[in-house]
Order: sequence, then structure tokens, then C-alpha cells
Amino acid sequence: MKITEHIKRSENKTLFSIEVIPPQKGHNIQTLYDNIDPLMEFKPPFIDVTTSREEFVYIDKNGLLEKKITRMRPGTIGICASIMHKYNVDAVPHVLCGGFTKEETEYVLVDCHYLGIDNLVALRGDARKDQQVFVPTKGGNHYAVDLVKQIADMNAGKYLNSVADESCKTDFCIGVAGYPEKHLESPSLQTDLKRLKEKVDAGADYVVTQMFFDNKKYFEFVEKAREMGITVPIIPGIKPLAVKRHLNILPQIFRIDLPEELISEVEKCKTATEIKQVGIEWCIKQSKELKQAGVPVLHYYSMGKSDNIVKICREVF
Ligand code: FAD
Repeated sequence: MKITEHIKRSENKTLFSIEVIPPQKGHNIQTLYDNIDPLMEFKPPFIDVTTSREEFVYIDKNGLLEKKITRMRPGTIGICASIMHKYNVDAVPHVLCGGFTKEETEYVLVDCHYLGIDNLVALRGDARKDQQVFVPTKGGNHYAVDLVKQIADMNAGKYLNSVADESCKTDFCIGVAGYPEKHLESPSLQTDLKRLKEKVDAGADYVVTQMFFDNKKYFEFVEKAREMGITVPIIPGIKPLAVKRHLNILPQIFRIDLPEELISEVEKCKTATEIKQVGIEWCIKQSKELKQAGVPVLHYYSMGKSDNIVKICREVF
């Protein structure tokens, strides 16, 4: 079922959902299930599965290092199929511009259609690790808005390089990313919001936000988006801080600010367990306030760990 339909049917009750990451190539899918299993008691109507960019690895060939390109966490669509089969919930693959030609993207979308996947999150993807800035793949989509257009075209029965008849129409519900603290490359929040509006105008049905630790940022973002004429659901994406290292890496990777109060609570902690507990309590507070404000879904970035999210959900749902 489409996410917009799940939201409609929830009758203003906040839903719970998670995002999971495929295991590294060669690892067992059971680890992923072990993290999803304890969260099923909170009845997520959908689970997002990320897609990773390709990267370079160095292979030792008789003492000489050979540079090879590979995808360390493949299998997004296969994992979606297995999640749908095992848990009987909707699975939402993240589809990227970076690393794929439009033709390859079309094949992925056709697979999704055959598998009965109703929702997709359309993303540009980050720059490859060996590149300073995002470089579009030759023959691929540049910005997320271009990918949204490709999906919207397929929803209208328009495939690449061919004319398909009406019966070939897909009917994907399209999600896109939004940034309450603006995307790192954007010159201002207002410019970024204009880009978001372009994605919605091109056919996006809902927005999922980058993580944030200060709800005020989300509320202001939604207000500005509404003023701009963005009317689709804006789902807050949140994550519990779990280790001291997060104080540095989360702002660095996601270009977000952490509230002073959270930083000082973490700095007072003497053990890793205390830090994890601070993160849980902060996230419970955030979740309760967002739920109280009537957000459609609370979407948790699980990053492959569920123990802290279970504790949060016991207090919130
Ligand atoms: P876009 O919407 O294309 O925007 C990228 C930048 O370009 C922004 O600064 C925007 O303002 C600007 N821009 C947009 N259109 C134009 C234009 N026409 N001209 C000039 N500038 C423009 N990454 C992954 O690799 N895998 C994932 O699974 C994944 N999942 C994510 C899920 C969520 C909910 C979020 C918030 C992010 C996710 N990301 C993922 C990260 C995402 O790929 C990066 O943040 C990426 O840098 C931007 O993606 P986007 O879709 O927002 O890009």
C-alpha cells in the first residue's frame, strides 16, 4: 500500500517506521532480521531500505594493489522483497541517481513493479568517497528531481527509448528527502526549499527529513515548506545519539547542529552506557513532542541497531 494511503488510514494517529541498511557483502541477512524482529511489536506499516554508492577497494594481486570499483552493500531490492515476504509490511527501497544510468534505473524500477513494491524514495546520493563533489553518472540522473521525473514518467506509462501502452503504467508513491537544517551544498534554507518544491511539483508524494535533534528546526521547516505551497506529508526522520563519537561525526556528516543541552548531558557521562541512556531519553522527549504535534509518522534511522529504538518506542507508542 502507498505510504500516503497508510497515513490517510491512520486517522491522525502517528505511525512508526524504520530505515535499515543492507548488510555488508558476504554477511548474513539474519543480522538484519535480528534487528528488525524486536521492532515488529510496534507494527511499522513500512520499512525503508537504503542503497549505498559504489566505492573503490584495493585488491592485493601478488604484492601489487589493484584499484577496483565495487558496491559494499548491494541487495536493496532483494532485501525489500524478503522483508515484504517475512514480515508482511511494505518495504521502501531508496533509489539513487549516483552510480546508475537512467537505463539501469529503469530496470530497478521494473523489478520493483514486478515485486509489488508500491513506494520508493528518490535520492541523488552523496558524492563518491573518492570525489570532492557529486559527479553525475554518464547517462544517469543528476538531481533527485530528475529521478522523480523518470519515475513519474513510468507512472504515466512513459518508458525510456520506447512507447509503452497504458497497461504498462506503474503506480509508485514517491518519497524525497528534505533538510530542516538545509542540505550541505545549498546556499540557504530558502533555496533548498525551492528545490524541494520542484521535487514535489515533479511528482513526489511525501517528504522524509534528514535527522535533527532540535524539534524547533523541524517545526520551522514544515512551516516554511507550507508557506511555499508544499502540501504533502513531511515525515520527521530521527535517530538516537548512541556514542560519544556522534557529537563530532553527526554534525560533520549530516551538517546538523546538536543542541547545547544534549552536548553537555553527554559530556557529563562517565560510561558508554550512560551516554546511550542520555541519547534514549533525548529521543523519547523528541518523539513525544513530535507525536503530540500530530506528525504523520515517526521514522527512526536504526543504522542496524534496534535495542535503543525498542526502549524509545516502549515509551512513545
Ligand atoms: P537533491 O534533491 O538532488 O539535492 C541535492 C543538492 O542539490 C541540494 O543542495 C539541492 O538544493 C541542490 N539542487 C537540487 N536541484 C537542483 C538544481 N536543479 N540545480 C541546482 N541545485 C539543485 N544517501 C544514500 O547514498 N543512500 C540512501 O539510501 C540515502 N537515504 C537517504 C534518506 C533520507 C531521508 C535522506 C534525508 C537522505 C538520504 N541519503 C541517502 C543522503 C542523500 O543522498 C544526500 O543527502 C544527497 O547529498 C542529496 O540527496 P537529495 O536527494 O536530497 O538531492
